[in-house]
Amino acid sequence: MNIKTIGVVGAGTMGTGIAHLAAMSGYDVILRDIDMAFIDRSIKNMDRLMSRSVEKGKMTEDARQATLARIKATTELEDLASADFVIEVVLEKMDLKREVFQALDRICRPEVILSTNTSSMSITEIAATTSRPDKVCGMHFFNPAQIMRLCEIIRGIKSSDETIATATELARAFGKTTVEVKKDSPGFIVNRIMIPQNVEAARLLQEGVASVEDIDTAIKLGLNYPMGPFELMDFTGVDINHAVMEYFADEFRDSQYGAPQIIKQMVRAGKLGKKSGEGFYKY
Ligand code: NAD
Repeated sequence: MNIKTIGVVGAGTMGTGIAHLAAMSGYDVILRDIDMAFIDRSIKNMDRLMSRSVEKGKMTEDARQATLARIKATTELEDLASADFVIEVVLEKMDLKREVFQALDRICRPEVILSTNTSSMSITEIAATTSRPDKVCGMHFFNPAQIMRLCEIIRGIKSSDETIATATELARAFGKTTVEVKKDSPGFIVNRIMIPQNVEAARLLQEGVASVEDIDTAIKLGLNYPMGPFELMDFTGVDINHAVMEYFADEFRDSQYGAPQIIKQMVRAGKLGKKSGEGFYKY
């Protein structure tokens, strides 16, 4: 694997974590978003984390500066032409992902692997917009990507063994434990299990069975989970949870998976969780 430069497309919550992780692992990073203000915010967030580590003596000042120097910020997708491996981290919308992959396919060298951090969507469908479906796969990191240990490596129908091996090797070079998702199935492993739990939690709340706080407490103490479902939805984004619930309902042709009214209303009201300052909790 001769990968020196990682292209990260999208500088939101996950793009920030993945770009930071790649730079801390010694890779050069090209970080792209549609507005320089988003990238500035992203780099500021990385720097804040590293400054704290320097203060605590967990990182040297030289390492902080070297990590920042490895990240090139851009709003031009064309700048991804020099990337050796790409991780797409834009919003969870199929049309947008297809559009981005079509452009990346045009811009990136033919041998470059294009991966997606989608939480739920079909790798095969995304890959089909490119002329290199064998070189497309899923790389599903978790939030915060710098800390969470897992990366799901997902096969599209046409992903080659070489693509899966290279993505696995890269995730391990980032310090992650990998699991292989052998079939392109909605939500892969983790979200296939987590999202229905979040749907049920929202239903319990909607039916007045228990409060947000009590449902979270019950799950934390009863199942020994570190976070309750509402804390987790606020942390990962109520909008992303909504998008995945609706995607599941559609893909599985089963309305039981769909977003309960309370989730829909929160998204309409802009109560998206931590990133908007209000979700099931206030921040
Ligand atoms: P986010 O809303 O925080 O960030 C998305 C970013 O993409 C925004 O900054 C937006 O400006 C940018 N963007 C939109 N169009 C773009 C384009 N054409 N080119 C470049 N950037 C573009 O979302 P997020 O939480 O970081 O999620 C991103 C992806 O990661 C989604 O597919 C999501 O399902 C997945 N994911 C999210 C989590 C999580 O916990 N939030 C965990 C795992 C996977």
